[in-house]
Amino acid sequence: MLTAGTTGWSKAPPNFFGRNAASGSCGDYSVTLGHGSTLWVKQLATRGCRLTDCRTGAWATVPDVLAHMPDLLSDGRRDLRFVVIGAGVSGILAVIRLRERGFQNVTVYEKASRLGGTWHDNRYPGVACDVPSVLYSYSFAPNPEWSRRFSSGAEIQAYLEKVATDFDVEQSIVYDEEVIQAIHDGHRWHLRTDSGRDDEADVILAATGIFHHLFMPALDGLGDFSGDVFHTASWNESLSLDGRRVGIVGTGSSAVQTVGAIVDEVDALVLFQRTAQWVLPQNNNVYTDEEKAAFRSDPAIQIRLHDEVSELFAEGFANAVVDAESPALAKIAQMCHENLLTVTDPDLRARLTPDHRAACKRLVVAEGFYDAIQRPNASLVSEGIARIETGGVRTVDGVLHEIDVLVLATGFQVDQFLRPMEVVGPTGVKLSEAWAERPIAYLSMAVPGLPNLFMVNGPNGPVGNFSLIEVAELQVEYSLQLVDYIAAGDFRLVAPSVEATESHEEARIQAAGKTVWATGCKSWYLDDRGVPMAWPWSFREFQRRMSTPDLDSYVLTN
Ligand SMILES: Cc1cc2nc3c(=O)[nH]c(=O)nc-3n(C[C@H](O)[C@H](O)[C@H](O)COP(=O)(O)OP(=O)(O)OC[C@H]3O[C@@H](n4cnc5c(N)ncnc54)[C@H](O)[C@@H]3O)c2cc1C
Repeated sequence: MLTAGTTGWSKAPPNFFGRNAASGSCGDYSVTLGHGSTLWVKQLATRGCRLTDCRTGAWATVPDVLAHMPDLLSDGRRDLRFVVIGAGVSGILAVIRLRERGFQNVTVYEKASRLGGTWHDNRYPGVACDVPSVLYSYSFAPNPEWSRRFSSGAEIQAYLEKVATDFDVEQSIVYDEEVIQAIHDGHRWHLRTDSGRDDEADVILAATGIFHHLFMPALDGLGDFSGDVFHTASWNESLSLDGRRVGIVGTGSSAVQTVGAIVDEVDALVLFQRTAQWVLPQNNNVYTDEEKAAFRSDPAIQIRLHDEVSELFAEGFANAVVDAESPALAKIAQMCHENLLTVTDPDLRARLTPDHRAACKRLVVAEGFYDAIQRPNASLVSEGIARIETGGVRTVDGVLHEIDVLVLATGFQVDQFLRPMEVVGPTGVKLSEAWAERPIAYLSMAVPGLPNLFMVNGPNGPVGNFSLIEVAELQVEYSLQLVDYIAAGDFRLVAPSVEATESHEEARIQAAGKTVWATGCKSWYLDDRGVPMAWPWSFREFQRRMSTPDLDSYVLTN
């Protein structure tokens, strides 16, 4: 009789027919599934032997059997095939964690020509992380070489390159391949890339980034501008700004960082502000040689620091933003207010004073912005933009601001995660239809009807001013717990139930109303209904929900 522990083909029914390998005849016999079983099934089939699904007693076709019977790892788990989409912070992490669990059959498709995602794409002057470097690092790869408390984009990119080399991630990445389609046939995902390459996967980890698709403002006459124009995320690195007149549209983190970095280089800098922002001051001190030497000689120091800063962010910042009335938020507001008071010109200070609460929009954390905007060659234009003309930007008061270079620091379309990829589940569920109005996902990680597809740093997740590396680590660990069940043969497909997803979304919307993001400003956090597209509970609650998957919230298929 047929016996097998791990694939679901656990007991042979009486009408099972097998093959005598030597003679090529069919008959009853006993086998334990293991290495080589795929080949064995193929041989059975070519000899015309019949196979029965032990669970249903029904005759099974060979492709059916093969789909249920992949090779096994040496420890008896199913050797699953993984595709990771995207080689940013999250994709690199996914590969490392999969390998740690013994899964080697992993391919990463990355549409860019290099890994790094955000930090590869964003190379504008001043680009930096506003989360402390010790926290914006993988927990398993502390970096004693960080030069400052907060790292530049270039340093983060170098760190990611190093981690990818140290953990041998590079060998799994296929560059310049954008995944454009993923269709599940009931057994596996079938993927296609923009070059026409096909692949298959038991499990997809989608790490395609929230800040990936640029938001281009609809400015009249933008095409008429005779100078250089580009988005901060596609900075023209070959262009010298020396002696040029540069206009910057936007006042978020990218704009503020750019202003501080280029003001001394340019002839004139004009910041076009639609909304004033609160700016939390930052002390970006260097790490001394002694500190770095200590980190090098005892990695535990940085790990402790990581944990302490993580605690500080979770208890201080992350909890503050989800409770608009919290004392911690009041403290943040006070610090922003005091920072604003460093602007000496009352008119400029008035125009830089936001009309919303601190942290309602994503808080800008920066060193030296108010200094930079008070330089003689810098000006703040708070009149609205009427149109762009050949020679510059005309504001609604009729003034033409003549410039040579126009920088669009206008952010990203944050609701475009995974898209425009065509994703279709085994029962015909289409992502484009499921998300036609807006993205909805169970715990921000999975979508009903799209089994074995886990999103990392996906929609409606924690996106305040804290480490998305930390978020990704929790999410990947959660996904891999579900993968463990699949590998152990407990089930083959897993997708969240419609009920669990709807009830999560209802609770999320309700809680989102109490966050600071819903206190009356316009921001990229808000969806078309004005609901913040973010995790609205504490970071501790996020950690709790990520600790163990609740299988009752999932549809499990064998
Ligand atoms: C200027 C800036 C500053 C930031 N500062 C902070 C900060 O201070 N703290 C913080 O926590 N976060 C910050 N972030 C957010 C940052 O995006 C995340 O921290 C993190 O880098 C996200 O990593 P990721 O791998 O999830 O996504 P990404 O870095 O966006 O990587 C996604 C990758 O997927 C690829 N991809 C997308 N679609 C496809 C496809 N269909 N096929 C193949 N490849 C695809 C992309 O090319 C990209 O390489 C910042 C973002 C920006 C833009």
